Amino acid sequence: MTKYIVGVDLGGTRIKIGLVNTNGDIVQEWSIPTNKEKEGSMILPDIVTALNKKFERKEIVKKSILGIGIGVAGNVDYKTGYVRGAYNLNWKHKISVKSELQEKMGVPVFVENDSNVAALGEHLVGNCKLDDSFVLITLGTGIGAGMVINGNLYRGATGCSGEIGHDTVVPNGPLCTCGKRGCLETVASATGVVNVAKMLAEQTSQVSQIKDSLKEHKNISSKEIFEAAEFQHDEFAKEVVDKIADYLGHASADIANMLNPNSIVFGGGVSAAGEFLRRRIEHYYHYYVFKPNEEATKIKMAGLQNNAGIVGAAALVMDEI
Ligand SMILES: [Zn+2]
Repeated sequence: MTKYIVGVDLGGTRIKIGLVNTNGDIVQEWSIPTNKEKEGSMILPDIVTALNKKFERKEIVKKSILGIGIGVAGNVDYKTGYVRGAYNLNWKHKISVKSELQEKMGVPVFVENDSNVAALGEHLVGNCKLDDSFVLITLGTGIGAGMVINGNLYRGATGCSGEIGHDTVVPNGPLCTCGKRGCLETVASATGVVNVAKMLAEQTSQVSQIKDSLKEHKNISSKEIFEAAEFQHDEFAKEVVDKIADYLGHASADIANMLNPNSIVFGGGVSAAGEFLRRRIEHYYHYYVFKPNEEATKIKMAGLQNNAGIVGAAALVMDEI
């Protein structure tokens, strides 16, 4: 009997689900919308329905499912499988994801923070297969980090490790979702890129379409800023990317000095900028890092991109069984 693992990437807009084989390859992948109504109380029942329908249609028996792994953007207690404060899912209270799903599906369920899940995915089948110790920094709407130390996921004392997105890098800077000001997330995530562009637009006399659009209060995405910098030789956009790379290079140097990992890896939506961004982060990393630590740590881009959540969630199960 072919064995499968279910990987679930539980995001604020969509729930991505994948049937993954024991080599870590996605055999089937689909998604359903995240219904956040009624304080997100429909989310878990929706996942159960989606899975049961798929199993029935593909004639997959429960016995062939080794387990279900779920990555959630929120504070996760890995041991108990409780999720606290997943605000983008509208989960305001403690939700017992593990026991609720286990009861309904009759297979082992493992729940983990989305950044940790992505790091596991990179370790299993992504760009960090050979790295014993690395930190994956996810640059999305926010900034999260997952770390593998000596081959194992490092969760910290209470599962809150990797919150580098909330390091204060600009005192009295833009307001963060956490209530503080000037967190790394406010100047280097997808929203952060736009914040930096707005700040710099006030200070520069450079001619730039991006700058003009911002001054006219048009909505500009981080992707447009990166494209203008890379392909349209927009000097203002280049300045914005450079500033972001400076913040990320500085953060990378701090991590390298503290942990001496094999690599620091950038994933998430913003990292789609690829080599163009990586080179600049690396430049600033070299500038800030403690020289004896410099060569050991490589600056890389993630290999899994969009599928990191599904593959990583499946890796969570593989790690356990
Ligand atoms: Zn913050």
